[in-house]
Amino acid sequence: NEGLGSWPARRARKTPHRTALIHHGTTYTYADLHDRTTRLAHVLRAQGVRRGDRVAYLGPNHPSYLETLFAAGTLGAVFVPLNTRLSTAELAYQIRDSGAKTLLHTGGGDQAKELSVPVTIEAEGGRYEELLATAPADPVDEAVGGDDLCLIMYTSGTTGRPKGAMLTHANLTWNAINVLVDHDLIADEVALVSAPLFHTAGLNMLTLPVLLKGGTCVLVGAFDPEATFDLVRRHGITFMFGVPTMFDLLTRQPAWPTADLSSLRILTCGGAPVPPPLIAAYQERGLTFLQGYGMTEAAPGTLFLDAEHAVSKAGSAGVPHFFSDVQVVGPDLTPVDTGETGEVVVRGPHVMPGYWGLPAETEAAFSDGWFRTGDAARVDADGYVTIVDRFKDMIISGGENIYPAEIEAALLAHPDVAECAVIGVPDEKWGEVPRAIVVPRTGAAPPPESLLASLSGQLAKYKIPKSLILAPELPRTASGKLIKSRLRATYGTAPT
Ligand code: ATP
Ligand code: MG
Repeated sequence: NEGLGSWPARRARKTPHRTALIHHGTTYTYADLHDRTTRLAHVLRAQGVRRGDRVAYLGPNHPSYLETLFAAGTLGAVFVPLNTRLSTAELAYQIRDSGAKTLLHTGGGDQAKELSVPVTIEAEGGRYEELLATAPADPVDEAVGGDDLCLIMYTSGTTGRPKGAMLTHANLTWNAINVLVDHDLIADEVALVSAPLFHTAGLNMLTLPVLLKGGTCVLVGAFDPEATFDLVRRHGITFMFGVPTMFDLLTRQPAWPTADLSSLRILTCGGAPVPPPLIAAYQERGLTFLQGYGMTEAAPGTLFLDAEHAVSKAGSAGVPHFFSDVQVVGPDLTPVDTGETGEVVVRGPHVMPGYWGLPAETEAAFSDGWFRTGDAARVDADGYVTIVDRFKDMIISGGENIYPAEIEAALLAHPDVAECAVIGVPDEKWGEVPRAIVVPRTGAAPPPESLLASLSGQLAKYKIPKSLILAPELPRTASGKLIKSRLRATYGTAPT
């Protein structure tokens, strides 16, 4: 069995008594995880789940998420994690699209009922424990190969309707190996898993690599910045992943300057551009981010910036992971010159075979075996890649390409700016011009003109927004990314 489903058994053989998971004070050893996973596989099989069937899961981080992933994997079935922040209609779409006939869920179950899936199982509490306790514990013997489908994981939906990325057992395994190798994980790692497991990073950049190595994962259902410091100290957390907004929230807690963070060894941050002021705030506390760049389709680790180069290559997303190949190419798909902007393409054993049920999108996403990310980037003379922005968000003004991320980074350097976004708005003369939407820091009321004036000298004149709107908040996806399409709908035409 080359599948993920065999991991608990292999770990139970090697390190049965080590702690695999901690959740709300309950501890699960690797032997427990193996036993529970095997029993759940029998429960699922008794409910009719067979090889290739899709098994969906809806709920915040909980041991039963991982039990379901491994149990489905053991049977050769395909796990479909669902985002708890989606509306019922959006969830219903993903259930229909994936064809899942079984749904495990935690909490209430009202929403699960509305989804009308033939088999629903409440995956926590007394009833779930009883199901496991009364199920057989003998090994489940299914042949699962590396190229078999393990997961259908929906993309974040930042640029449109989420697409189901098909990830194989090999894709997930190679990604976990890349993280082990490149982040120097050790068996004594204690990871704080407060990023949602239904997104690729929480699962693949943190949890699975730690479980492969035999470390401990502390699962937290909802990210609570204030409680995070206490968890870090109490569990001796060594490894954390967060998107930039999570790490930013931590710096705004009253406890931030004094919290004991001495156990932390590895902080990885990615999924969206990491603002330079955020990097500086952690540097002041003696903590260096390992920045990461990736996408659901690549399971997701693609580029990373190691701590050694965090300062000398600040702003760069780094170099490819060990078993990954990355190029920055022009429209003809040949690599662009040093310093030129092109599209990031990635190839490797961690890259998905395609999108579920979307042959045309799959066809369009690959060229000569390279996955086309749609992200613009530059490479420096040492091979370090700097992500510029998504091509879809690029503004073309008077024939000049403008990347909003560059303007956003410049605005974020202003002390009165907490968050900001830049979009293109129609303009008679230039076709399009940039407009900034800014959330001021609490207590600050900066005049828009002074914010714009702070950009001159920093940015070429054509990149300076022609208008700036102050807003109370910005629309973000569950993974903390700016939803530019919604910003364009709200602020793209409104007069300033
Ligand atoms: P969708 O594909 O549904 O529109 P999405 O692309 O946001 O949503 P994900 O797979 O979660 O879905 O995110 C991958 C994207 O996130 C990358 O293609 C890139 O645009 C962005 N990204 C990830 N890491 C970084 C980073 N370190 N710096 C800048 N952008 C990043
Ligand atoms: Mg994408």
